[in-house]
Amino acid sequence: MSTIAAISTPNSAGGIAVIRISGENALDVAEKVFRPSGSRSVKDMAGYTCAYGIAHDNGERLDDCILTVFRTPHSYTGEDIAEISCHGGLYVTKRILRAVLKNGAENAGAGEFTKRAYLNGKIDLTQAEAVMDIISAKGERELKMAENLREGSAFKKAKKCSDKLMKILGDLSAWADYPEEDIPAVEPKNLCRELIEIKKDLLLLIENYDCGRIIREGVSCAIVGKPNVGKSTLFNCLSGCERSIVTDIAGTTRDVVEESVRIGDIVLRLADTAGIRKTDDVIEGIGVDIAEKLITSSELIIAVFDGNSPLTEDDWKLIEKINSKKTIAVINKSDLGICPEVSEIEKHIGQTVYLSAKENDGIEKLQSAVEAIFEINENSFSSVAVANERQKKCIDSALVSVESAISALENGELLDAVNVLIDEAEQYLLSLTGEKVTDAVVDEVFSRFCVGK
Ligand code: GDP
Repeated sequence: MSTIAAISTPNSAGGIAVIRISGENALDVAEKVFRPSGSRSVKDMAGYTCAYGIAHDNGERLDDCILTVFRTPHSYTGEDIAEISCHGGLYVTKRILRAVLKNGAENAGAGEFTKRAYLNGKIDLTQAEAVMDIISAKGERELKMAENLREGSAFKKAKKCSDKLMKILGDLSAWADYPEEDIPAVEPKNLCRELIEIKKDLLLLIENYDCGRIIREGVSCAIVGKPNVGKSTLFNCLSGCERSIVTDIAGTTRDVVEESVRIGDIVLRLADTAGIRKTDDVIEGIGVDIAEKLITSSELIIAVFDGNSPLTEDDWKLIEKINSKKTIAVINKSDLGICPEVSEIEKHIGQTVYLSAKENDGIEKLQSAVEAIFEINENSFSSVAVANERQKKCIDSALVSVESAISALENGELLDAVNVLIDEAEQYLLSLTGEKVTDAVVDEVFSRFCVGK
């Protein structure tokens, strides 16, 4: 493989910047652009050692730097790596990279260092994906989840299932291919039992997928309710700025305002909608239509009610409309006192939170309600084993094949047919871990990475 180089630090000025070079000729290239202050040469440096010196372009001094050397196979990529740490100015960093490229390295593609780590067997595909998740983690739980995956939790669990399938395939082919040998017959009943166990393991793998997805990607959430109950005030309170127009004239919010807000570890992709009520105003009417569509498309509904006024027909119609959705009822304006009859809502909506959006009082209760509604707790998120849609699809497909194999056995079909289905399941699991995967899938995985990682 060629020797590649890229700036591994962000594309902005900082304290230091790092230019990473990886490949067979990494140390040759480093030798040509870095002059150590002592007498030893770059090529004599052992792995995990550094040297102080200057980076230069054909003798023209560029910057004071530290060179760190990693020797194959004990490096991130598994190849020889030289990392030049220089002052973090954008121009100086680019000049050093240019000198590195002039002296034999090629520009690294997106995620190419991590791709090489995968191709050189340092990590499996799920761990490579976890590296990207670590970089993009925005909260404590997201980071912990990515860290679990980087340590190989998904790989180990999928590998266990894949090893069991491989053993079954081995038994089946030994029995079919060498009938003259004294190989015990494969008993359909036993085989079925084993497959049911594998099916259970696969289901466990995807059990908390939604919890992981919610922590990573957030939840689409519509704030709905009749006019003047405090939807915009709540929206502004959550997003921390005055984005929605707050007035006491009913029907002020006519369009949909969107914003992502973080409550604890969960990101809500909020939409503040026009108040839902019958209206003759054409423009407001369009907003109301959008609000109704948002109810259908959002994963979570925050239905706001004015706790200080008796419930009206519009409130009851709304409760009916959101009946089948995951909903949190926010009984707002608690600072003005709560009408006793409003607590009736608790009988119809599972999660009810009393707060005052205007006084910013009680907002934290929303977090517990969101966590409760999506069953997010320490147990569920620490057992998340599947990081993304690609991995989920692999397991879903493996499950379909295993289930078909179980039905085939139950229907007394030939073992040959069962064999094909088990083999199919095995291929999906190998594709999950990257042990057997097409170049297109690998390219797709690494295209999400940044250059320099
Ligand atoms: P929307 O039409 O549902 O978006 O309602 P707004 O957010 O525009 O609020 C309507 C009126 O209720 C405004 O005068 C707000 O100041 C007031 N309001 C909103 N939330 C509260 C609250 O928690 N307590 C009190 N006292 N007034 C509130």
